[in-house]
Amino acid sequence: MNYSQYFGEFGGRYVAEVLRPSLELMEKEFLDIIEDRDFWKEFDILSKDFTGRPTPFMFAENSTRIIGGASIYIKLEGLANTGAHKINNALGQVLMAKRMGKKRIIAETGAGQHGVATAAACAKLGIPCTIYMGEIDIKRQRPNLFLMNLYGAEVIPVRFGSRTLKDAVNAALMDWSGSFEDTHYLIGSALGPSPYPSIVKTFQSVIGKEVKSKIAEKKIDVEAMVACVGGGSNAIGFFSPFLEENTPRLIGVEAGGKGSDRGKHASRMSGQGKSGIIQGYKSLFLTDKEGQILPTHSISAGLDYPGIGPELAYYGKTGRIEYTSATDAEALEALQFFAKNEGILFALESAHAGAKAIELAGTVSKDKAVIINMSGRGDKDIFITAKLLTPDEWLNFLRNEV
Ligand SMILES: *Cc1c(COP(=O)(O)O)cnc(C)c1O
Repeated sequence: MNYSQYFGEFGGRYVAEVLRPSLELMEKEFLDIIEDRDFWKEFDILSKDFTGRPTPFMFAENSTRIIGGASIYIKLEGLANTGAHKINNALGQVLMAKRMGKKRIIAETGAGQHGVATAAACAKLGIPCTIYMGEIDIKRQRPNLFLMNLYGAEVIPVRFGSRTLKDAVNAALMDWSGSFEDTHYLIGSALGPSPYPSIVKTFQSVIGKEVKSKIAEKKIDVEAMVACVGGGSNAIGFFSPFLEENTPRLIGVEAGGKGSDRGKHASRMSGQGKSGIIQGYKSLFLTDKEGQILPTHSISAGLDYPGIGPELAYYGKTGRIEYTSATDAEALEALQFFAKNEGILFALESAHAGAKAIELAGTVSKDKAVIINMSGRGDKDIFITAKLLTPDEWLNFLRNEV
């Protein structure tokens, strides 16, 4: 692996002076780990027995027949323990923290998916865990707070600023500036100051490696691989073994939300993202003229974020990764399509990739294949999907519960 702090103009390490030594130490540890067979042996055993790897790689036969173009395959990453790819990174970083002699894990969470994965990994590996979560997000995502507590994590409500993800990150950073000697800060996506983007990519690359071996085994002629992009961790992990090659096409799907108006989406690569340095790294962000972060919208909490991981921004500039977006409505449509035709429930995030993959498959010849990364499963979304698809019945159900 060729490690660098920068990806073209993006990346870097823009942090307060106090945090610099701990990031330097983390970088050193990370470079050691890459070569350490014992570390990877432990990671592999836990990935198998705890996470449930390898996750299935499924030929979507019915969908392929209905669309009538390229063969559609789905990497069922959502069948991993805790329901999404986030566990790969959480597990890897907790193992790394223990190797560094850390006694405590902290993390930020938005919708709660990263918090749940972190709490589960900490429970498995027996290390105390504190999760920062905005007060507004706690109100919106009560089930995930319940799960984090079940896994034994302490969840601290963030009551300042936006009271959402952005300030949960700030609260975690504040904690860390006073606690880094014995505490590891576990970032949940392929972003943040170096070396985090590379650490997260490395632990998520297990997805792409499994897919690559299936492609070889089944002798599939792949036209494109399609993944949704929030911060970018599932996408960079899924794409990683192919980034240095010229094929197949790699397609990142951002949240098109309710349309291209300012504040209504989270499409940073659509041309609206501007270069900036926010929360420790340089990348493309949705900001106003003064460089302040703009509000974003997506039906899926995981894609509702103003920034994109630096390496993903870089590969967008070079053209290796193509970007497009799917709207809320398109994602909801794709979710129903795969549920009905494949018996597979996509997370709303992953359904963005599903929507664009269906569109693409229809334009590609039958001897080719399109592979979708289903980053998560959609059980977590029923409070959103049921409310949208069957509003009256759902309301009645909630009333009866109360
Ligand atoms: C968090 C999440 C995402 C978005 O995060 P990335 O870092 O872009 O992968 C996508 N899908 C699911 C299911 C998630 O939970």
